[in-house]
This record gives sequence, C-alpha cells and structure tokens, in this order.
Amino acid sequence: MGAGLEQREMRVILRQHPPASAGRLPRNCSTTDDPLSFTAPNLSYLLDSPVEFGPLEVRSFTVPACGADRSHVIRVALHEDRPSGLVDTLTTTVGRIVGEQRAIMGELPTFEPGHYTFLIDTLPWARSDGMEHRNSTVITTPATGSGAPPTVVPTMAHELFHAWNVERIRPRSLEPFSFEGPNPSRELWLAEGVTSYIETLTEVRAGTIGLDQALSVVELGREPRRGRTRPPVPLARRDESACAVRRRREVERPQAMRRHVPLVLHVRTRHRPGPRPGASRPE
Ligand SMILES: [Zn+2]
Repeated sequence: MGAGLEQREMRVILRQHPPASAGRLPRNCSTTDDPLSFTAPNLSYLLDSPVEFGPLEVRSFTVPACGADRSHVIRVALHEDRPSGLVDTLTTTVGRIVGEQRAIMGELPTFEPGHYTFLIDTLPWARSDGMEHRNSTVITTPATGSGAPPTVVPTMAHELFHAWNVERIRPRSLEPFSFEGPNPSRELWLAEGVTSYIETLTEVRAGTIGLDQALSVVELGREPRRGRTRPPVPLARRDESACAVRRRREVERPQAMRRHVPLVLHVRTRHRPGPRPGASRPE
C-alpha cells in the first residue's frame, strides 16, 4: 500500500452531493481553506484518521491544559436513526471520563488537529465495536431505543485511554506497523490489559458503574453490563499436543489476564514502602 510513498504528505478531497445537504464532517486530518479538503503528513497518519460524513449531531467542550495557555477540545459526534437527546447525555458522561483519565495521567495528550473526537454510531444495523485512533475513536452499537446502549460507555473509556496507551506509548514489537496483515506482538496482552483495567477504574471514578460491578469485572472477567463471564483458561485438552496447547494459550492468555496484572501492578505501586516521587522523605 503506497510502497515508497509512505512519508509523502497526503491530501483527501471529499465531494458532497447534493452540495446543499446538511452533512457534518468530524475528521482528524488538518483542515485547509476548503472545508472538504484535508491533509495528513504521511500515510500512517491518514490511515489512522477516520472520517464520517453524514447527518451527525456534534457537541464539544474544552478542557484547560495544565500549565499552558492552551486547551484541549473534546468532541462527541453521534449518528443515530432519529435524534433522541442521547448526544447530550453522552457528552456529559464523556466529560467525566476525560476528567478522570486526565487526573490519572496528569495531562491529556497533544491532539494534533487540536481536538479529540468520539465518533459514535447507534444504528439498527450496527454491530458493537470500538476502534482506537490517535485523535479519535469510532464506536458502533445497535440502537436500543432509549438511553445509552450498554457497551458505549465502557468502550468510550477504553478507547480514550488508547490515545496514550498503544497510540503514543506502544510495544516496540508493533513497529513498523503493517496495515496489510496481522501485527503479532507478545506484549499486546499487557497493552490491552492495562487499557482494560484503566477502563474499569475510570468507570468507577466517574460513577458510571459501582465498585461491586467493577470487582466482578476484574475478578471474573465479566463484561460490564453484559453479565457475560469468560470461561477460565483450560490447561490442556485430552486430544491436544503440547505444541497446540502452547499456541492456544498464547492466544487465550491475553483475555484471561486482561485486568489482573494491571490491578496487581497498581496495588503494588500504591502500597510500595518508602517515599514516593515528589513526597518528602520520612525522618
Ligand atoms: Zn483495546
């Protein structure tokens, strides 16, 4: 894909038909004088910048940056069958999620276009899914008729944290990233595990789930609000060779350990004896 041209600046020009339709266009690439023309500094940036062109409801708010005369813009762009007021509910929840993750990390990342966008589709034909991007996330879910669909809030918390973890802090083994096939990495289970743990921690601190629910998520691998429990990882099946068991556990271990290891690391870090960074040394 674009062999030899990966580092060239890219320009995408969209055409709107009919020109007078009321499409909205959240995007991550840099804008130009033409509102439908966008640039990206290279191919990777372009491929990590989804565009949704359609009847979107868009809300935004600003978050002041720490120690600098600038602010971050956070946008929620919702595409649903018919307006239901959900976009305002989700924007309020996004504000709490952003505030909690900013408190955990100390500051939001520098979003290159000047904003981070939650692109959310709640449509009858959509499947539940979420995908992280450097300056946005795309979340799809079947419409439920009223209120936020059950997978949207945890997915918002999960994908926003990926703006740090994996998008800006990533396993060395993921580089150079291939867009043309799988990118096997032995460290991906840790990257996903930390993100899943922070997702749950964010939800507790933001008040979108209770502590009991969070503990069942961490302890049992139960999906928030779905009540589904992942089965424990079996050690071996009677008809499996040793190699087959090893290969299968390579795949299943990430799921089984998603939130456990980060929880242990968090607890050990918080309760490590001795002075913490920034704390005064005890007499
Ligand atoms: Zn993830």
